[in-house]
Amino acid sequence: MSDSANDSGRDLENSYDPDNIFAKIIRGELPAFKVYEDEHTLAFMDIMPQVEGHTLVIPKAGGANIFDLSDEALRATITTTKKVASAVKQAFSAEGIMIAQLNGSAAGQTVFHLHFHVLPRNAGIELGLHNRLTVDHEVLAKHAEQIRAALETAG
Ligand code: AMP
Repeated sequence: MSDSANDSGRDLENSYDPDNIFAKIIRGELPAFKVYEDEHTLAFMDIMPQVEGHTLVIPKAGGANIFDLSDEALRATITTTKKVASAVKQAFSAEGIMIAQLNGSAAGQTVFHLHFHVLPRNAGIELGLHNRLTVDHEVLAKHAEQIRAALETAG
């Protein structure tokens, strides 16, 4: 264990920066293609999707990683992740849904506000590279609309 780590694994080299990209999206300072929002959570399209329909779910509470958030905030986030994953599955006729959550840059995390990736998967379709290619914003707007429609259908 390094000197800076503690038993909970909380210190993954990054303290929470309230000016990170996702905190700015929550505050409305940056735009996002939102699909779902409630008191505790927000879901929006990943701007560099690894597959069509790649969606992110975040808590509104600030925390860089899974060790940084209260159990209550995590419960709200995973509940929203399940709801959004179900809508993404329906909207993209996905055979499977992959849910990913990275903690620390060594694990590949690049935005240090906790988030769950929701990725629709179909046999024979590989994931694109992480954090690389941006997609036409009209396409992202259309995909967000498809997911919102599926959420409405689910009630
Ligand atoms: P991670 O590498 O797990 O921290 O994931 C960060 C994700 O955020 C990547 O998949 C990026 O494509 C995505 N991303 C970065 N900036 C934005 C943004 N402004 N809006 C939506 N997604 C973003």
